[in-house]
Amino acid sequence: MTDPREPIRVLVVDDEPAVRAAFASVLKPRSAAHADLDAMEAALFGASGSRVPDGPDDVVLVPQGEDACLVVERALAAGVRYAVAFVDMRMPPGWDGLQTAERLRAIDPQIQIVICTAYSDHSWDDVVARLGHVDGLLLLKKPFDPSEVRQMAAALGEKWRLTRQADADLARMHQLTTRLEATVSHLKLEVQSRVAAEQSLHQHAYFDALTGLPNRLRLHDRLADAFARKRRDPRYSFAVLFFDLDGFKLVNDSLGHDMGDRVLVEIARRLNDGLRDVDSVGRVAEEPASRLGGDEFVVVLDGVASDADAAVVADRLLTQISKPIDLVVQQVALSASVGIAVAGSHHASGDEILRDADTAMYRAKFERLRIATFDPAMQETARKRLCLESDMRRAVEAEHFSLAFQPIMHAASGKIAAIEALVRWDHPDYPTRMPDEFIPTAEETGLIVPLGRWILEAACRALADIRAKSPDASDLRLSVNVSRRQLLDPRFPADVREILRRTGVPANRLDIEVTESALIGDEAAAIHRLGELKQVGVGLHLDDFGTGYSSLSCLQSFPLDVVKIDRSFIRTLSESTKSASVVEAIVNLAHRLGIRVTIEGVETDPQLAAIQELGSDYAQGFLFHRPLPVARIHELLATARALQSGRALASVAQTAHVTSQITEIA
Ligand code: C2E
Ligand code: CA
Ligand code: CA
Repeated sequence: MTDPREPIRVLVVDDEPAVRAAFASVLKPRSAAHADLDAMEAALFGASGSRVPDGPDDVVLVPQGEDACLVVERALAAGVRYAVAFVDMRMPPGWDGLQTAERLRAIDPQIQIVICTAYSDHSWDDVVARLGHVDGLLLLKKPFDPSEVRQMAAALGEKWRLTRQADADLARMHQLTTRLEATVSHLKLEVQSRVAAEQSLHQHAYFDALTGLPNRLRLHDRLADAFARKRRDPRYSFAVLFFDLDGFKLVNDSLGHDMGDRVLVEIARRLNDGLRDVDSVGRVAEEPASRLGGDEFVVVLDGVASDADAAVVADRLLTQISKPIDLVVQQVALSASVGIAVAGSHHASGDEILRDADTAMYRAKFERLRIATFDPAMQETARKRLCLESDMRRAVEAEHFSLAFQPIMHAASGKIAAIEALVRWDHPDYPTRMPDEFIPTAEETGLIVPLGRWILEAACRALADIRAKSPDASDLRLSVNVSRRQLLDPRFPADVREILRRTGVPANRLDIEVTESALIGDEAAAIHRLGELKQVGVGLHLDDFGTGYSSLSCLQSFPLDVVKIDRSFIRTLSESTKSASVVEAIVNLAHRLGIRVTIEGVETDPQLAAIQELGSDYAQGFLFHRPLPVARIHELLATARALQSGRALASVAQTAHVTSQITEIA
C-alpha cells in the first residue's frame, strides 16, 4: 500500500543551466541564499507570480535525457519514485524531449511528464503522434509563469499521488477480491461437504449400512405413504411380506459374523433381483425390499390385493433365497419363512400391518409352512407366545422346573438299563406344563441354553444320588435331551465336563440325546461338536429317528452309539408289515454299523412282541414305565431287584401294567 504522504519528487531535465536554476528557485523552498535567483526568474518567466505554498518535497535537476533516465532508474532501484518530470524539448547534443519522455515512461509508467517548449515546431498533435498516448503528459510553452510551473508541479504531483493511491487501492481491491474468491470457493467446498455429510446422515438414518437396503425407519415412512394413498383411493391395495431366515443364528455362531454378514448381503441382493421379475403379479414399488434388522427382511408389493397373489411372489423369492450361497470356505443353503399381510381396512398404520405380517411369519416358521398368511386368530397365538416367553424367563431364573425320569429297558434282560430325564414346568398358577408346550419357545428364544444347563445338572445330581443310595445302580445310565441350540453352543462340551465333575457322575454313564434335525444344516460343525462330546466320554443317541429328514446316511456320518426309533413307527408296527420292514431295515443297518437300537413309545403287548422279533436292544414306553418322579425311581430300583435278575421283558411289562396307574405322573 502507498504511503498517503509519499513525498513528491520533481525531476527537471534541461540542457541550459540558467533554466535549471530558474526551475530550482521556483520549485525549491525559497531561502535567502536563493534571493539572487529571483531576478533571473523574473527575467525568464516575465511576471513574478506568487509561490504555491505547498511545493514539491524534492527537486533534482539534470542537463540531459540520459541523466534523467539514470536518476529515475537508480531511484526506482532504491524504492524511490519521481512524480513529475519537466523535460525540455531541445537538449542538444542528447535526446530531445519526446525521446526522453518516451524512455522515462518506459522506466516508470506512472511518472507525469511536462514537455517544455519554446518553439512552435512541436504541436500537441506531434506529441500525441510520437508518444501514442497523452495520459500523464502535458505541454508547457516558454516563457513560463513561475506560479504556473508550481501549480503544475503541485497538480501533477497530486494527480500522481492519487493515481498511485488508486493503483494501490486497486491492487488492494484485487487482493481483497482474490481473498474473497478464495473464501467463496472455500465456502462452496464447505457447503458441498455439509451437503455430503447431510446426505450420508440421511443415508445412515434411512438405509441399512450392511446391505444398502432401506431400513426400518424408511420402511415406516413408505408404509405411511401407502396408507395415505389407500385412504385417498380405496381401490388401491398393497401387501407386506415379512421374511425371516431359518437358522441364521447358526451361521453366525458357527461360521462367524463376517460370513453371517456376507449371507445377509447376498440375501438382500437376491430379494432385489428376484423382485425385478415379479411385475406379472403386481407392480413392484420403488425400493420394495427393506431390512428390519438381524435376519428380517420386508418386501412391500404395490397393487397386490389378494393373499394368493402375494403368496406367488413370496414363493418365488423363497426359491431364490434358498439356493446355496457360496462363502468360499463352504456353501450354505438357508431357508426362510414368510408371513403375508394384505393391507385392509382394519389396519391403521404401518406398525399394525408389520405386526400382522410378523405374526404370520412366526406361524410359518413354527409350523414349518414356509409361507403363512395372517388371520386374526394368529394374533391371539402370538400374544400367548409372548406371555409364555416372559413367564418362562422368570421361571428359568426361579428354577420352577422339575425332572421326571422314564426308564429305558434292556430288551434281552428286562433290566432297567437307563433313565431318561424329561423336563416339567411347575408353574405356580397353572397345572404342570409339558415340554412340548414350552421347549419350542425356549429353543426359539435361546432360553433353552440356561434351562438346558439346569436340566443337565439336575439330572446328573439325581443320578449321583441314585448311585449313592443303590449300589446295584452302578451300571444305570442317564439320558438327557439336548436341543440344537445347546449343541451348537461352543461352550456346551465344556459345560458337560464341568457338570459331570461337579456332580461326580462318570462321563460313561451319561448319554446325550439329540434329534436328527439338530444335526442337519451344517453337518461339518455338528460332527465336530459330537466329536468333542465323544472326547468328554459321553454316549451319543440319535432321538426320534424316522421323523423329519430320516436320512440313513446320518447313521454313518455321525459318531452314534444308539439310535432311538420314533414312536410313530411303533404305533403302526403291529398293523402294517410295511413299517415293520422299514424298522427291521433300520435295526439291521444300525447293527451292522455297530449302533444299538432303542424303540420308544411301546404301549401294547403286540408292539412289544413285534419289537422283540425285530431285535431291538432297548425298549421304552408306557407299557413298562411312564416318566416318574425321582423318588419313584428310587423305590423302583429298591423293589425291582427281582426285575433286574433277568426276568423276561414281557413280565416286566406285566408288572408295570399293574403299577402304572399309581406311578404315572402327568
Ligand atoms: P422325547 O425325547 O422323544 O421324549 C419322549 C417323550 O415321549 C416324552 O414326552 C414321554 O413322556 C413320551 N413317551 C414315552 N413313552 C411313551 C409312550 O409309550 N407313549 C407315548 N404316547 N408317549 C411316550 P415328554 O416328556 O412330553 O417330552 C416330549 C419331548 O420334549 C421329548 O421327546 C423331547 O423332545 C422334549 N424334551 C423333554 N424334556 C426335555 C429336555 O430336558 N430338554 C430338551 N431339549 N427337550 C426335552
Ligand atoms: Ca428323548
Ligand atoms: Ca424320542
